[in-house]
Amino acid sequence: MLRKSLNLCLLIAVAVSVAVSVGAQQAPKLPKLVDLGSTTCIPCKQMAPILEELKTELAGKIDVEFVNVNTQPALTDKYRIEVIPTQVFLDASGKELFRHEGFYAKAAILAKWTELGFNVATAAPASFSRWTAAQPDARAKDAVCYMCDGDVNPKSAVVVKTAKGDVHLCSPHCLSIMLSSLTTDRAEVEQQAFVTDFATGQSVPLQAASYLYSFDEQTGRPSVMVFASRDAALAARRDNGGSVLTYPLLKNKEMASRCGFCDRAVYPEDAAVVKAGGVYTYGCCSHCALGVAARTGASVEIHERDRLTGEPIIVKTLEGQIASLEPATAVAWYGQRTKPDGKRVSAGCFHQGFFVSAENLQKWVEAHPLETGEMISIAKALADKMALSPEQISKACKIGECAPK
Ligand SMILES: [Zn+2]
Ligand SMILES: [Zn+2]
Repeated sequence: MLRKSLNLCLLIAVAVSVAVSVGAQQAPKLPKLVDLGSTTCIPCKQMAPILEELKTELAGKIDVEFVNVNTQPALTDKYRIEVIPTQVFLDASGKELFRHEGFYAKAAILAKWTELGFNVATAAPASFSRWTAAQPDARAKDAVCYMCDGDVNPKSAVVVKTAKGDVHLCSPHCLSIMLSSLTTDRAEVEQQAFVTDFATGQSVPLQAASYLYSFDEQTGRPSVMVFASRDAALAARRDNGGSVLTYPLLKNKEMASRCGFCDRAVYPEDAAVVKAGGVYTYGCCSHCALGVAARTGASVEIHERDRLTGEPIIVKTLEGQIASLEPATAVAWYGQRTKPDGKRVSAGCFHQGFFVSAENLQKWVEAHPLETGEMISIAKALADKMALSPEQISKACKIGECAPK
């Protein structure tokens, strides 16, 4: 009955469909996707927006039907299901081709129809990539931050002396990120690290300096100024406010918030928020946020911002697949570098991001001439993370380890 009244609505709304709907007894012979579930079970509810999207996108190609097992017992009996939700794939004659039990991601449903020999291609997916920087990086090596690739301001520079030469960093925060990405002895690196006195430009051992720690009033992001002497830091506090900290106290603050995937130190203001199995954590970049699903095995909810406009993007996963995407047009930038041997590797967390649309992504890449990589779907970004082994996850984003995909 429900089905008939639905056809009736279509009759009124869409003149074109009249001819098709009138002969509903014999035709229309379209293949059909039937999702059997309820309005209360969680994976059933996760299926609802997917079914709505498929209904629109596959109109005229494949019928999409939801059967509520609580109110449509006859249809439920017909399909003899054992669990909800179950998705049944039928050909145009009504013959069952395939069935799947549990939550089923949209991309996986479309892939299954394709595998079964049906053309479900919607509009060609937009693609965008850039493999050569739009301009050469003319900066001197000591003017580029080893962690974030940002410019090193001589007034806040950090230098770490190593056997292979000096490592230049833009700020104490990038040093914290570096320290949290090491699998080797961190204490040794700290002993070889030198920060810059804000007042004089002098180099000061990391552990001997005083740090004026305050918060940016606009963003709430921590701000760290470095001084050779505690008196100079206290004097600066009179103008700037904040707290004067020794290095161990600064380090406690810097290391307090971590990426739930790669363990890197993060400022929450820079990070994606990830809810995983009822616990809140961060993603130091959007791809790491997806990685939390792979590392924890939990379904996650990610709150990220478009890197161009700051617009919110919400990604929910279920059993390692995308359950919902807000907005549905959101895409991921997968920043990559081409190594001398031609192999492409991840360009690191600072070069990844989500965007509300392909247009925003393209604008952002155009505004950042040194970025190289490609646009991928968020479903692909998640699938790449879910394919990682526990060992690859433990090495993810660690300095000196092979960069996993
Ligand atoms: Zn940096
Ligand atoms: Zn991370």
